[in-house]
Amino acid sequence: MKITFHGSAETVTGSRLLCETSGKKFLVDAGLFQGPKELRLRNWVSSFKSSTLDGVILTHAHIDHSGYLPRLVKEGFNKSIWCSKPTATILRFMLLDSARQQEEDAEYANSSGYSHHKPAEPLYTKKDVEETLRLITVVDDEEWFTICKNVQFRFFRSGHILGSRFVQLSYPGAEGQKTIIFSGDLGNGRSKLIRPPQTPPQSDVIVLESTYGDRLLPRESRSHEFSEIINTVYKRNGVLVIPAFALGRSQEVLQAIAELQREKKIPELPVYLDSPMALEATKAHLKYPDELVFHADEELIKAPIDTEMFRVIETFQESMALCEVNRPHIVISASGMLTGGRVMHHLKKRLPDPRNAVVFVGYQAEGTKGRILISGEKDFRIHHERVDVNADIFSLQNFSAHADWQDSISWVKKMPQVPQKIILNHGEKKSLESLKAKLESEFPNTMVVVPQHGSSVDV
Ligand SMILES: [Zn+2]
Repeated sequence: MKITFHGSAETVTGSRLLCETSGKKFLVDAGLFQGPKELRLRNWVSSFKSSTLDGVILTHAHIDHSGYLPRLVKEGFNKSIWCSKPTATILRFMLLDSARQQEEDAEYANSSGYSHHKPAEPLYTKKDVEETLRLITVVDDEEWFTICKNVQFRFFRSGHILGSRFVQLSYPGAEGQKTIIFSGDLGNGRSKLIRPPQTPPQSDVIVLESTYGDRLLPRESRSHEFSEIINTVYKRNGVLVIPAFALGRSQEVLQAIAELQREKKIPELPVYLDSPMALEATKAHLKYPDELVFHADEELIKAPIDTEMFRVIETFQESMALCEVNRPHIVISASGMLTGGRVMHHLKKRLPDPRNAVVFVGYQAEGTKGRILISGEKDFRIHHERVDVNADIFSLQNFSAHADWQDSISWVKKMPQVPQKIILNHGEKKSLESLKAKLESEFPNTMVVVPQHGSSVDV
């Protein structure tokens, strides 16, 4: 089988792995590139013929893994999209939100004249999403699904977000059937919401994500640092902005705030979830209790958005109005890496004021505005306008939904036998090199490969 890395090679976004075997062509994930312009431009150029694909296996609903699907469909793809049941539920509102966000951004660009393109066009629209949703086929966990004779796959829980799965694929090799695992995004087993990753079944090859391949995430509780930040901002009469993926991180952050309020470690201040799909995301969690850790019961998940202190902001106008509110509050808004979305308006308003603070709770990819802010860069631009950064900027890594290098090695070690080959993707260069060195010293008989963008690996 030949795997070509059309994305997430030496970077963390745009996951698109093209597999070719037995005369079939299918993708594992179809994600959007995010971050710097040279990456985003790849979303507009198709590096393979979408209409010739026989299907897409989807690991999870995050946009950097699923957000390219409507574009594929717009370009002529009309076969099945295979995913887990919760992913199918989530995809509905995630992709509609992605289309809405792109339409909103294009509209704002046109009305404010900041776009270089005239008129600015969205990558796809709600109509393309509707077409995409028709192609979804739910595949049950741990059951082999046949793509064609000798090519089958099955899903296992990967512990990253609601519905996330890793994939084991069986395909014909030179000497009989071979197996490969695609990790997708791998959780670290420390989530207070989502159950941990399942043990990987014995396989010949693994494609392993490497987001935190050069880092160890903190193991201790996050509550102390988080409550200190909230208390400081509150005393200064400021506003705390938390950029977060609308699905996953937002729920974990809300849960953490609710817990701190219950324990009286922070004052009762208003918390706004500025995301039209917050309710849908929460409902999706309630619909699939088997995905959740045992104590994440209905009460706990519903509480944050059911009380007076927590408000869900629905419309764009309400969101803009919230930017003008001048009393202490917390606002959680997407996108998590500042690649667009409503959070940009909050930041434009809040960054210049030293009473305010921004807390990042997820990974910030190279070249994203999120990474620029964390690195302390003072020349910061939103919608081509310079914005003074006087607010405090924090990054709390213990909210992460990814495995670090130690988690990844422990996960691989759970296999009865070490795989012959490990292919590293979904990481930046430093991360990939570091994880490669660690895996090579841990498993001296395993070949570790780091493919470049657009390159192919035979397995
Ligand atoms: Zn993800």
